[in-house]
Amino acid sequence: MSDQLRYDGQVVVITGAGGGLGKAYATFFGSRGASVVVNDLGGSFKGEGNSTKAADVVVEEIKKAGGKAVANYDSVENGERIIETAIKAFGRIDVLINNAGILRDVAFKNIKDEDWDLVIKVHVTGAYKCTRAAWPHFRKQKYGRVINTASAAGLFGSFGQTNYSAAKLAMVGFTETLAKEGAKYNILSNVIAPIAASRMTETVMPPDVLKALGPEWIVPLVAVLVHSNNTTENGSIFEAGAGHMAKLRWERSSGLLLKADDSYTPGAILKQWNKVVDFSNPQYPSGPNDFMTLLEESMKMGPSEQ
Ligand code: NAD
Repeated sequence: MSDQLRYDGQVVVITGAGGGLGKAYATFFGSRGASVVVNDLGGSFKGEGNSTKAADVVVEEIKKAGGKAVANYDSVENGERIIETAIKAFGRIDVLINNAGILRDVAFKNIKDEDWDLVIKVHVTGAYKCTRAAWPHFRKQKYGRVINTASAAGLFGSFGQTNYSAAKLAMVGFTETLAKEGAKYNILSNVIAPIAASRMTETVMPPDVLKALGPEWIVPLVAVLVHSNNTTENGSIFEAGAGHMAKLRWERSSGLLLKADDSYTPGAILKQWNKVVDFSNPQYPSGPNDFMTLLEESMKMGPSEQ
């Protein structure tokens, strides 16, 4: 028996699928039985202009190989039209991959409102609009898979990318909450921070590195995450690139607890700062600390413990 993962009967919507990672997802799902909506505005990587060509070329490629696909040329800011394309063409939507993206790299001292606004609009508002339009369908059929696209720039920061970093970390918070709200409807949402050769990275990485970073090396992880019965991952963050993938999580130091009274001063914190930043006995939280318990503990503390 083949162990090939298949997506027969499923409808997969991929935003920004005219090139780069999106195209790699689209051709993969098209070759594994899914019906694919290939969305792409067809502009430059800075978000200028538009064209139908990018999406059309990918649709043709999928069809030529015997797959099913339709094009959509709307901006992700009009997410409802993209989801409508799926419903009109194929009658349903099972998987949404929020992948479209642009860059407006500029050092923070030179950034203009336009650089900020456009990046937030495409990445954050775009993912929101597409997901909001897909959500009622997912809830109704009690099934849905969402992949959002973050970036190492969002997780760790990156020179010249305050706008992009802010937008990409927003995808993490967005995903975490979607995961919580979708869980009881079998809607699983996860977020990936990919690294791959594309027009986005071709100017910032040397050619030999780019060669090793084919967008096709991101696809298998996403394929596993959106498959109907192979994973229960929900609200997880993954890094992926060059055949490597890993899950990321938060780490919390064991911290410093002071009695919450007049003795809780900046000076008292400074005296024991090493405890605030001590990761020798870490916790791996999936939620905020239990402040009521901490408060009760601090109230029980005597002066000697301060
Ligand atoms: P890419 O430029 O090749 O692909 C992005 C696609 O999105 C393009 O085809 C573009 O036309 C489309 N697009 C842009 N704005 C759009 C809009 N408003 N509506 C619809 N489509 C739009 O770049 P890529 O590297 O394949 O990037 C894919 C995603 O991965 C992006 O979200 C990017 O931020 C993210 N990412 C990529 C890397 C990497 O190393 N390539 C790293 C981290 C994150």
